[in-house]
Amino acid sequence: TIGMLTMDNNGNMAGACTTSGLGYKMKGRIGDSPIIGSGLFIDNKIGGAVATGMGEEVVKTVGSFLIVELMRQGKSPQEACEEAISRIVSKGNRYKDFQIAYLAMNKAGDIGSYCIHKGFTYMKYQDGKNEQNQSDYYNK
Ligand code: ASP
Repeated sequence: TIGMLTMDNNGNMAGACTTSGLGYKMKGRIGDSPIIGSGLFIDNKIGGAVATGMGEEVVKTVGSFLIVELMRQGKSPQEACEEAISRIVSKGNRYKDFQIAYLAMNKAGDIGSYCIHKGFTYMKYQDGKNEQNQSDYYNK
């Protein structure tokens, strides 16, 4: 999945996500990416979030919507991403077999990211400069 969150010079946010799909998926399966609130959610008053990874688990926790709602309640993007991952890993140890990563940005332009396993990288582009970042992760 490629997820993108943007903010223009007037502070307006938008986002998009693709899906690279899932190998050996069931016929007719729909992942999280096309479901607003799961793979992607933006509230232009609060911020936005995108997800990648095992879509079924993201759908079950309505992950991107959850992150935006947590930011609405005052959590930072980083805290909100960590809480959304914790909702998934707290269900049992099946998380060892799949990856999920979240990326979030609030209206102040603060960014957060968290994933289950090491290896999620994201880019930040601002004022003509690209910056590559490694997401912190749960399974240390
Ligand atoms: N989230 C996608 C899905 O479940 C998988 C991916 O491309 O990361 O379809």
